[in-house]
Amino acid sequence: MADLDEPMVVDGGTGTRCEWEGRWNHVRKFLERSGPFTHPDFEASTEALSGFCNIHVVDMDTIDVSNLNRQFLFRPKDVGRPKADVAAEFINSRIPGCCVVPHCKKIQDFDETFYRQFHIIVCGLDSIVARRWMNGMLLSLLVYEDGVLDPSSIIPLIDGGTEGFKGNARVILPGMTACIDCTLELYPPQINFPMCTIASMPRLPEHCIEYVRILLWPKEKPFGDGVGLDGDDPDHIQWVYQKSLERAAEFSITGVTYRLTQACFSSLFDSAACATEVFKIASSAYIPLNNYMVFNDVDGLYTYTFEAERKENCSACSQVPQDLHFSPSSKLQEVLDYLTESASLQMKSPAITATVEGKNKTLYLQSVASIEQRTRPNLSKTLKELGLSDGQELAIADVTTPQTMLFRLSFTS
Ligand SMILES: [Zn+2]
Repeated sequence: MADLDEPMVVDGGTGTRCEWEGRWNHVRKFLERSGPFTHPDFEASTEALSGFCNIHVVDMDTIDVSNLNRQFLFRPKDVGRPKADVAAEFINSRIPGCCVVPHCKKIQDFDETFYRQFHIIVCGLDSIVARRWMNGMLLSLLVYEDGVLDPSSIIPLIDGGTEGFKGNARVILPGMTACIDCTLELYPPQINFPMCTIASMPRLPEHCIEYVRILLWPKEKPFGDGVGLDGDDPDHIQWVYQKSLERAAEFSITGVTYRLTQACFSSLFDSAACATEVFKIASSAYIPLNNYMVFNDVDGLYTYTFEAERKENCSACSQVPQDLHFSPSSKLQEVLDYLTESASLQMKSPAITATVEGKNKTLYLQSVASIEQRTRPNLSKTLKELGLSDGQELAIADVTTPQTMLFRLSFTS
């Protein structure tokens, strides 16, 4: 598993092998004998698994000089080159028989034909939208026959992420265990604190750091016009730290430390935990994580695991069409607000279409300026005025999933 900044590593199949005496001794110890934690289906075997030979890595970033300090794949000569390319070259030259194929692209640039070819998908994404998209992609690959899930269509998703001092690793068997959207309420919004708290009523040291990071940096431009805040640049962190201390003193808040400031920027990928889970799933040697591990190193190190449960009416994985309860006199804007603000949906820029009088009609679409302008007047119309009826299906597309979601309008009186 590559340890890029926010990589996504995918493993599938096995490539050509290149062996030498004792190469797999360490892996043999796990695979040739069973133990108290081995999977019930596990059969110890001398046919040792020989590593993950065929890996695709998708990452759209290029290497910045500030990326060099906390990883082992990139060198100063690589600055400016795509992370995926350099990581692939490094691993391919270091590990004989391993074939890493780089893609300097967004995960959304690939379709189901691409993702279907893999056995396991690992995500180290920094955005919830991208995670949900990948989750939706793997759910769209599931095959149901007479309502029964075909287990061969399941591609396990291993997801790792870090925010500040907290991190998590989870194993998702799409269609079987809790998916990303099932536990959406667990994810804090991307900006942690309401703007008004940050701006005028800070209570926590984090509020002070966020104030400096979000409001003060763009205003004071301490390192010149157009210089973005770089969480890997010690001078930048030092500046934010000093200003946060001043802010904290103003409001008699204690607890702003250099380490906390640093943590507000870091997004280290919990790659070791994820790689372990890939090994367990690929080899069946051990029971995979069931299914959510959190770790926290605010004060010492604390870690525990729990089983996130599937949500019966999950909009992504339940296969149950969602009802939207609105009065005929509700405005389309209220529906839009619900889709974006509801904790279980958290859509970003939903596009709503419906079939009205036999015609497919775009009620609102934000992502294309000309269509947004044309459909904006609909937002202030009531559902009745738009010609929508009770039981009407609404097709809703959003960046959080590759699939269009179907909702059923249920009129309340
Ligand atoms: Zn779900």
